Amino acid sequence: TRTPFIAGNWKMNLDHLQAVALVQKLHWTLRDAKHESGSVEVALFPPFTDLRPVQTLIDADKIPFALGAQDISTHDSGAYTGEVSGQFLAKLDVSYVIIGHSERREYHHEGDDIVAAKTQAALRHGLVPVICVGETAADLEEYGASAVPVKQLGIALEGLSADADIVVAYEPVWAIGSGQAATPEQAQEVAAALRAVIADALGVDAAARTRILYGGSVKSSNIASFLREPDVDGALVGGASLVADEFAAIIRFQK
Ligand code: 13P
Repeated sequence: TRTPFIAGNWKMNLDHLQAVALVQKLHWTLRDAKHESGSVEVALFPPFTDLRPVQTLIDADKIPFALGAQDISTHDSGAYTGEVSGQFLAKLDVSYVIIGHSERREYHHEGDDIVAAKTQAALRHGLVPVICVGETAADLEEYGASAVPVKQLGIALEGLSADADIVVAYEPVWAIGSGQAATPEQAQEVAAALRAVIADALGVDAAARTRILYGGSVKSSNIASFLREPDVDGALVGGASLVADEFAAIIRFQK
């Protein structure tokens, strides 16, 4: 059985003071609601500059949130100005790293080869890659929903070992930040196709164990409909993860 995974991708929002304030508020909101922290895994993905203060807070107050980064260098160290190594992230108790988000694919021209290299960099340093795949509106029209995400994931998984610890996020590009989420049926259809890709590449045990998230305009009002689908194991939440009450309500979803 796969523990539901709720991930907050803050993107380029919140300086380190705002970050600490949000994490405290989120923690207090969940505590006041008597939320049981074991029932769902929560991970926060702040900007790099927020990681250290958020990690310090989580550690000091024993807050049950995992920490993730939004990107990773393909290299481990050296003359790569502006890059952040997985070594440094691991030292900061970072557990997860988002790889291949559509915003990096689009604005930073990251292709499937870079996504694969970053996936391997994450695994080299004991970080769990959250591999993002998804079709654009034009892809959806031309090929349907599954074809592009299936191809993207197949390339990212090439050469990985069967015991690789990964998370996959299906984020249709047209659903991101648009207020127009995919239907739960579409999320399920693509998630099932992606699970089959994992089975092909890494084996049936890996496919059964690996969590597949849906992302794109997830809110407290639609989270349960996605989590009711058998192959959707959680959500990658953008805008709604920046508001403590709303993100707490997402974390406290009830099927
Ligand atoms: P929104 O939840 O703001 O649509 O963003 C989704 C996303 O891109 C998460 O990575």
